[in-house]
Amino acid sequence: KEFLTIIQKEASKTDFDRYLKQLILKKVSIEENLATFEVANKYIASWIKSKYTNLIQQCFEMFDGSKPEIDIKIIGEKKTKKDIQNIQIQNQTPESTILNPSYTFDSFVVGPSNQMAYNASLAVSTKPGIQYNPLFIYGGTGLGKTHILQAIGNHALENDKTVIYVTIEQFMNDFTFSIKNKNMEHFRAKYRNCDVLLIDDIQFLSGKEQTQEEFFHTFNELHNAKKQIVMTSDRLPSQIAGLVDRLKSRFEWGLTTDIQIPRLETKIAIIEKKSELNGINLSREIITFIATTLDSSIREIEGVLIRINASASLLNQEINLAMVQNLLKDQIKENKENIKLPDIINTVANELNIKPSDIKSKKRTTSVANARRVVIYLARELTHNSMPDIAKFLEMKDHSSISHNIKKTNELMKKDENFNLTIKNLKNKLINKE
Ligand code: ADP
Ligand code: MG
Repeated sequence: KEFLTIIQKEASKTDFDRYLKQLILKKVSIEENLATFEVANKYIASWIKSKYTNLIQQCFEMFDGSKPEIDIKIIGEKKTKKDIQNIQIQNQTPESTILNPSYTFDSFVVGPSNQMAYNASLAVSTKPGIQYNPLFIYGGTGLGKTHILQAIGNHALENDKTVIYVTIEQFMNDFTFSIKNKNMEHFRAKYRNCDVLLIDDIQFLSGKEQTQEEFFHTFNELHNAKKQIVMTSDRLPSQIAGLVDRLKSRFEWGLTTDIQIPRLETKIAIIEKKSELNGINLSREIITFIATTLDSSIREIEGVLIRINASASLLNQEINLAMVQNLLKDQIKENKENIKLPDIINTVANELNIKPSDIKSKKRTTSVANARRVVIYLARELTHNSMPDIAKFLEMKDHSSISHNIKKTNELMKKDENFNLTIKNLKNKLINKE
């Protein structure tokens, strides 16, 4: 109780009510120099870890002068043989990640938006290196790329394959670390002796010439040895700017398949599955409401489920439609406060492969005009800025063209399914801060 009061004083009220309160209640053990807590799921765990580890330590210090390491676990988490194997792989070098055991094929809901990616993933994880090599999966933020990639890894591990899962950033860090420590042999041994290499978010190879060179050799070695390579990206290889041609072409040697924004029925099925996994009971009405209100990212939907769960269990609120409507209203309001105009420009420029400075310029090429229109539309949708504010920010003389641009965007979204998807993906990126 004392600990609770200390932390309550230091943390923000919302954070405390939503998450930290739960952390305290589920505290399980303090041994030696380690304090272990349990929380309901991995999101709360990683959120608290990243934001509040220091504060929790300080609270211990204030409380009894100790300063233990803080470990935040998920309730009922047990280390399986697979986890241990994973950890062993992780320990080989500083930069690789363990697989999330809950990202499996079983927990992945299949629908028309991801059927092909799912089938191909299942095939390569069952028989790595035989078909579809490399497998290249692309699609917008929060649509399940990491989930399916790790599902391949988890499944292959079960079949006693050696699996490496890294984001391309981790690959790059590992590479620079190995150069610095003159340990390239170790690096190469690690990446060239696996059965399955899973690389997440490969689009970040863009512009990293030395890493591209090294990755080129890794790729060739593995491919020649008929080892499986799977990559994910937010866009097609041909659309990754600053990627050397020989990699672009290699990425397309096998199968390239996308994951799209799920349709309503799939979204409903996903919400059902996730709420079941989180032990939340939602009526059909509520599920449909969430599915229709949040129209793109599954990650965002999951965030909402966690909030519902937290309000229900911590504040003893009954889960009903009004409560969920309120929660979503808050969430949308919060999104609007968090997204800034420069973020929108940068994200749109990056996605559409143009320079951010072009958007504020007088240029009138089709691609720039199109990007500017998208920025205007998103600025109106995702922030509280007025039309004159937006015009001023974009250094446009006349704000009357703002509403014209918005109208035009709405028309295009109705007419052109690809354009519609681009807009939704951009929204996802901004809301998920990616
Ligand atoms: P991405 O890597 O494409 O940004 P993630 O794989 O991180 O997206 O997915 C975001 C969240 O949505 C994850 O928690 C994941 O489990 C969930 N998710 C996405 N698609 C599905 C699906 N088809 N079935 C179940 N969960 C899904
Ligand atoms: Mg991902």
